Order: sequence, then C-alpha cells, then structure tokens
Amino acid sequence: MQNLLDDAIKYGKKFAVQGKPATYIPELSKADPGMLGVAVVNVSGQSWKSGDYDSPFTIQSISKVAALMLAVMDRGEDYVFSKVGMEPTGDPFNSIIKLETIRTSKPLNPMINAGAIAVDSLIAGKNTEDKINRLISFIRQLCHNDKICYDEDVYKSESSTGFRNRALANFMKDAGIIEGEVEEVLDLYFKQCSIKVNAVDIALMGATLAEDGISPITGKRLIPRSIARLVKTFMVTCGMYDASGEFAVRVGLPAKSGVGGGIMATVPGKMGIGVFGPGLDEKGNSAGGIKVLEYISNKLDLSIF
Ligand code: GLU
Repeated sequence: MQNLLDDAIKYGKKFAVQGKPATYIPELSKADPGMLGVAVVNVSGQSWKSGDYDSPFTIQSISKVAALMLAVMDRGEDYVFSKVGMEPTGDPFNSIIKLETIRTSKPLNPMINAGAIAVDSLIAGKNTEDKINRLISFIRQLCHNDKICYDEDVYKSESSTGFRNRALANFMKDAGIIEGEVEEVLDLYFKQCSIKVNAVDIALMGATLAEDGISPITGKRLIPRSIARLVKTFMVTCGMYDASGEFAVRVGLPAKSGVGGGIMATVPGKMGIGVFGPGLDEKGNSAGGIKVLEYISNKLDLSIF
C-alpha cells in the first residue's frame, strides 16, 4: 500500500500543477497548487500516508456530508427532505438558476450550496454558536481528532465575499425553504466551510462511512446505518459537483470534494481515502486529487460498480 500511495502521488503531481486554487474566496487563493497528499485508513484503523498528507486545509463542501447527517439525526429524514431534494443538478455548485425554474424552489440536493444552506437551517441548537459547536464536535468524532476547529481568516474571507451564497439564502428565505434568520444560517455555513482538517482526518471520516457509521478507531457507532447509506448515495450522485458522472465512471467511489482541495472518498466495507491538492480543475475539484483517486481505484480494483 505504501508504494502504491507514493506512486499515486508521483502520478498525480503532473496534474496538480495544472490546477488553480479557488480565487473567489481570497484566502484560498494563497494555496500552493503543487501540493498533493493522500491518506488511507482501513476499517481496522490501520493507516498509510504519502505526500502532503498532514498539511491543513479548509474542509469546504466536504462539511456538507456531516451537516446533512446531523440535520437528519436532529429532524428526521422526512422533514429534511421536505426542504431539500434528492436529484443531481448538472449545474455548478453555487448555481442559482434551478431555484427559480423548478416549481417548489426546493434546492435539488444537499450537496450544492443552496441545499447545504437549507440543511444548515435545520440543525438543532440554541443559537449559531451552539449549532457550530455541535457540528464541530460531530466532525471531531468522525475524524477522531479533537483538535479540529475553524480557521478564523478563511471564515472572515468567506463571510465578507459570500455574495452569491447570500443571494441563494435570501431567495430560499423568500420561498419559505429556510427557517430562521438568513444571516445566522449563513454564519453557520461559512464557519462550517472554514473548518480546518488534513488528509488523514477526512480519510478517517471516509473509513467511518465505509463501515456504515462505525468508527474504525473506537468501534463506536457514530451514525445510524441508514443515514450513512443515505449520504454515501448523495456522494455518488452529487458529491463531485457537475463532474459526478465522469468521476463515477473513472473512479467509481462515493466521494465528496471541497474547493479547499480536499476529497473524501469511501470504499464500502474496506477503507476511507482522503486526498488534498489545492490546484482545482474547471469544475472546482482537486485536479491532482482526482488523479490520485483514479490511480488507487484502478490499481486496487475498488470501483463499486
Ligand atoms: N464555502 C464554499 C462556497 O460556499 C464551499 C464550496 C465548495 O467547497 O464546494 O462557495
């Protein structure tokens, strides 16, 4: 496994340097696109790492998986899906177009920004601080790392430039999708996107999902099986933005990417894989990270299809 990961990083580097860090969140534009790291954690808790596996990055959209699980545990599946749909969009992650053109204005799925903001409005808690603390503590359990917290600079950068997310949230408030104060929901969303992790953290999250919700380190069930299965399905159909179809063909694993350059992948019954490479392709996925996953999946014949 160690040689395989080293080779995967060598292969992925060629593609990583062709990517560009996200610039629409100014703080993210500072990242070095040449960085690339990978970590694998199997369901027995054994791990292997290569490249920039311990470099911190912000979790961004990978947090949508955890927020969805928490909201479903808090409010139940039926209620959550009365506010957000279950269909892939084929549009970019921050698109507003379907909110107006579809009949109920319900965001199409919880993995796009609109859907994730709607999901955040359903997380239980007395106030934003309570809600973000609950979410961080859940992510700490999923990643088995109690040092995880959000990055103040990235949070401020997102919050001061998140005009499109504000547009999405205000539109959904008007349509009766969002509960509570728009700015409070957005504050939770920006903070959750700014949570700092590394490739090992997200590999552990992937390994927990691989075991349908059981931590590979403690053996404790963190998520009901039905909810683990639910989020893995969304990861297959909508996890890689509007490149989810191609990713399913080429890699064949449930995965969720974020514009910080992370991708969390899960191999059911076997392992979690975390990759980090801040150079993004035109769809917003880590250019090198996708190639690392493709390499590993093909060599080990991991596709679930
Ligand atoms: N904070 C980012 C945004 O709202 C998350 C996007 C992503 O990682 O897909 O635009």
